[in-house]
Amino acid sequence: MAELRLICVCGTDTGVGKTVLCAALARAAHALGRGVLAVKPVQTGCYEAPGGELLAPDVEVYRQACPQAQSAALVTLRAPASPHLAARLEGRDISVAGLNLDLRACLDQSGADFVLLEGAGGLLTPLNEEESLLDFFACLDASLVLAVPNRLGAINHALLSIEAARGRGIEPCGFVLLNASAPASGREGDLERRIHGDNGAIISRRGALPCLGELPFVPGLLALDARRRERAWEKASGVLSAAAAALCAPCRADTAYAASILDFDREHLWHPYSSPALQPRAYEAVRARGASIILRDGRFLVDGMSSWWCAAHGYGRAELLQSLRGQAGRMPHVMFGGFTHAPAVDLGRRLLEIAPAGLEKIFYADSGSVAVEVALKMALQYQMALGRPEKKRILALRGAYHGDTLGAMSVCDPVNGMHSLFQGVLPEQIFAPRPECRFDALYTSQSAQELENIFKVRGREIAALILEPIVQGAGGMWFYHPDYLYRARELCLEHGCLLILDEIATGFGRTGRLFACEWARVSPDIMCLGKALTGGVITLSAVLASDAVAEGISRRGGILMHGPTFMANPLACAVAGASLDILGSGEWRDRVLGIEAGLRLGLEPCKGFGGVADVRVLGAIGVLEMERPVNVQRLVRYFVEEHGVWIRPFNRLIYLMPPYIISKEELARLTVAVCGAVREGWWI
Ligand code: PMP
Repeated sequence: MAELRLICVCGTDTGVGKTVLCAALARAAHALGRGVLAVKPVQTGCYEAPGGELLAPDVEVYRQACPQAQSAALVTLRAPASPHLAARLEGRDISVAGLNLDLRACLDQSGADFVLLEGAGGLLTPLNEEESLLDFFACLDASLVLAVPNRLGAINHALLSIEAARGRGIEPCGFVLLNASAPASGREGDLERRIHGDNGAIISRRGALPCLGELPFVPGLLALDARRRERAWEKASGVLSAAAAALCAPCRADTAYAASILDFDREHLWHPYSSPALQPRAYEAVRARGASIILRDGRFLVDGMSSWWCAAHGYGRAELLQSLRGQAGRMPHVMFGGFTHAPAVDLGRRLLEIAPAGLEKIFYADSGSVAVEVALKMALQYQMALGRPEKKRILALRGAYHGDTLGAMSVCDPVNGMHSLFQGVLPEQIFAPRPECRFDALYTSQSAQELENIFKVRGREIAALILEPIVQGAGGMWFYHPDYLYRARELCLEHGCLLILDEIATGFGRTGRLFACEWARVSPDIMCLGKALTGGVITLSAVLASDAVAEGISRRGGILMHGPTFMANPLACAVAGASLDILGSGEWRDRVLGIEAGLRLGLEPCKGFGGVADVRVLGAIGVLEMERPVNVQRLVRYFVEEHGVWIRPFNRLIYLMPPYIISKEELARLTVAVCGAVREGWWI
């Protein structure tokens, strides 16, 4: 069987013609021997046949032009209006996710290999309050053919549509001109003919897009008698014959191309915490949207990981992408040495507004690990500048994780962390036991006893204490009591040590508070932010410091010795600003509370299953701690293949931290998958 081709056909404005184009393309592809399916995802203006059946007018046209092709409408609505309105009038909902499911079912049933999808109006036609047709097309990874009515205004409409498609990562493969009327006679007609003739050339040149053909105007095509109609369709499909052949040619959707991506990946690309030699096959993600990651074969995986804490608002958030595009158009990057810019300043203002009290200075860096390096350097330089050279050790916690660069590794758990290999190479730091006081248990003064002892004995050497507030993440997904953090703050003050809070994972609402340190009403001297800072769109981190720290470092002309090339990257700062806007609406609070409730309910049954050591939930984080390390590969395969969810366990932990925008149903799919995996022993 030939490779499946998915082709979206969309108008550059709402004029007629797409249906004729679709139908003619269907016929041309059929003539090339393809198994054709013509689909109208949303058909408005449906009418009742005498038998009571609801007829989709465009589907009728496909049938007329190419009776051998299969055809279908996924959603049929009566009102001849935009889909969002026509659906609302019938009390119905259309969504990209729903359309996608319907389409997959239709594809499976038809067995077709050349599938045309005709849009309803233009690319930005709304499907519901938030989603547009473009959103639907964007998650299909299909080819796009634009139907351009050839008339005055065509250039502008076409170029805007091309730009909109490209802005969403859809490269149109060409356009077809549709002559919707016959030119008038006389001089007026001459001008019209010149306009018609010029339109295609300009669109092609300015839009860098081939014209795939020009469909002639056939007055009253649909009402012609059978013989003349047949001749008209034959002519139209003949015009598109070369276009149909081009659409069948090998392309990026091919199985061979997909296989080559996976092969190259396996042979040449390093993945996190892996060896290229032993790497299992990765899944190829082609798009992501909402709470889903979309694979090349069209499967939607519900994301339980937020791409490692960062995609808090889900994927493809229009606000974030718009700010990215806008800033890319203005200035993607400029060196921060000697220059400043509004994105950095605006973001800085907003960060200080929401940050814990007392933080006044900001250093922008490019990743979480680098932020930790900068924070450690700040602390060490501060103590040196204050004339305390003996304070050159960092106190950290067992079970901690702060990043993968050398300095950051030195403050990760020295035994169970990922970096025990580097013992003896890394700067030697001081470690306190993991705080054993659970978040949800009673705190006693005993809980911080060991920490107090260490301060008592080695306080003179300690420049700073670094902590992940409340949630120790990659070191064990452990939630500890806020009073421990409070006591840690007191101890730092008592011993002239700085408190560095690593909010890289916990920041921006994940634990149910905007910053996890709010649980303990504690302000640090230095705070590291990253991950969800840009809503998962682009890498950026920030180190916030108190005036006292900055002034200390600056004593006698001291400078902080750090300055990454991409410091304060304007693109990243602009997106981070847009992400803070989304958080600023406050909607995340209810969403995180809802996820917390869903996780508690959904993971509850696991408490009774064999092999489960602990089940804990805080904010939008749900953790199953098993008694033994789990079989990661087997579990991932089970989650993807059996449940269509993306969950990536590690060590003894199967955990969920979905995007805040996840729906109840999607969340339930995640928890059902986790329960199934444990109940049925897939983790062993
Ligand atoms: N600190 C914490 C608490 C983290 O969870 C991480 C990332 N997992 C880092 C630092 C390092 O961030 P990055 O991976 O961006 O370097």
